[in-house]
This record gives sequence, C-alpha cells and structure tokens, in this order.
Amino acid sequence: MATVKDNLLRAVELQHSDSPRLDLEVLLCHILGKSRAWLYTWPEHEVNPDQQARFDALFKRRLQGEPVAHLTGSREFWSLPLKVNRTTLIPRPDTEVLVEVALALGESSAGPQKQGFSVLDLGTGTGAIALALASEQPHWQITAVDRMPAAVALAEENRAALGFDGVHILQSDWFEALRGERFNLIVSNPPYIDPKDPHLREGDVRFEPLSALVAEERGLADIRMIADGARAHLNDGGWLLVEHGWDQGKGVRELFSGCGYTAVETRLDYAGRERLTMGRFQAD
Ligand code: GLN
Repeated sequence: MATVKDNLLRAVELQHSDSPRLDLEVLLCHILGKSRAWLYTWPEHEVNPDQQARFDALFKRRLQGEPVAHLTGSREFWSLPLKVNRTTLIPRPDTEVLVEVALALGESSAGPQKQGFSVLDLGTGTGAIALALASEQPHWQITAVDRMPAAVALAEENRAALGFDGVHILQSDWFEALRGERFNLIVSNPPYIDPKDPHLREGDVRFEPLSALVAEERGLADIRMIADGARAHLNDGGWLLVEHGWDQGKGVRELFSGCGYTAVETRLDYAGRERLTMGRFQAD
C-alpha cells in the first residue's frame, strides 16, 4: 500500500500546476478527512485501497487540468468554506483585497452608526464577496445578485450553510431587478478578460464559465456598464469598487472619471499589480 508520503511525491507529475504539492495535499486531505498538519505528522500512514482508488481518480482528473476546487467541491475564501461548482468562478485570493478595501470604505463612510450601511455585490457567483463582508459586518444590509440562476442557487446554499440570514440574494442581470434601490457601496468582481487573451486556453481557467470571465471591449464592457448603471443605485457620497485586470487600471479610471465619479483611485493586489478601482458618486 502507498503511504501519505508516496502519494505526495506524485506532485512531480503535475507539471501544469503552479502549486503541485499543495494540490495533492488538499486532495489527499479531502479523501482522508484529515488536515494538512495531520499529513505532515503521519507521512508513513498507509492509505487504504478504497481511499487510494478515490485519490487516484482525482489525481487523474487533476493531471487533465481540472481545478482542485472542482475536485473537492469547495474553496476557502476569507477563511469561509464555500461550496463551488462549474457554474461560477472559483474565488481567488486576490479578491480578498477587494473585501479589505470594501470594509475600510464602510468603516470610513458609516462612522459609528453602521446599522443602515447598505452594500450591493454585482455578479456574486459563489457569494464570496457578499458573505465575506457579512462575516465581518453582520449589521450591514447586504444584497448580492447574479444573472445566472445556478449561481444564485449556489450563493444561496453558501449563505444558508454559513447562517448569514441577513444577506439577500436574488437573480438580476446587473441592476435589472433593483429598480429604485440605492446603496452606500456597490462592489463587483465582474468578467474582465479580453476574449482574445491566450490565458483563457491554459490551466484551470478552462474549466470555469466564460460568462464569469470574458467581457467585450478588450475586457471593459461590463465594467463600463456597471460604472454607468451604478449612478442610479448609489446614495450621494456612496462608493463603487470593482476588480479588474492588472493592465486595465488606466482604462477603468478613465471610465469612472468619464461617468463623473470623484476620488477615483486604484489599489494593488497581493502581487503588487493594479487590481481594484474605486470612485465616489456625488449626486448633483
Ligand atoms: N482574475 C481572474 C483570472 O485572471 C479573472 C476574474 C474575472 O474575470 N473576474 O483568472
């Protein structure tokens, strides 16, 4: 029988992965029902034949490029365990920066009276951003929308599993179902990849829905629609905050300024690349 250590040594075969060793640790933990610390404590533990067969099946799928999160059916975001499937984007660590900035914007604009602070998450997917905000600010009024019914169902499942009763999740093509509603903060991780980007044909991203990834106008079409539409859905002095590609900062700042937002500013992701832009809506 193969040991834990033997199985992890197979990482050398996962040449297409950025994190082969971690991938196998996560898959093995998933099969054995153990923590990564346990794997390090018991490298000589023998994996039983049933577990070995299940691990081998997942290993084979990983070799063919399927994302680890799809193989385990879950992904951690902001320390929250989220269910994931093929209907939405897999939450990325970089999007946690968006959560940090959103929390800071809420702190600075809500002051001590946080009760009524309202947030809208557009294109919520798994619900990651909305649920992370709810975990930190249970009194905020958080609404999350997605155009895809399957995403709404997944976000709702994640919301219910975490018990965040206050988060309101509904189906809406951007602002469509939100007529007349205004918020203090609108956040989004929209699709922003240029349809011609070769990155779409490589690695894990091939298993994610294009609808969550790709936007026309060299990736800026959805951000343009959001920047335009958000003006009718922000309270005076409210903030719009969107994630974008590392090379889109200038384009997004121009879009925001063109729509009349003030205090337009870009923030960097953990790798030091331009990743988020915010702007303030001032009613005239
Ligand atoms: N950052 C993701 C990627 O490069 C894309 C996320 C998105 O389009 N919203 O794979």
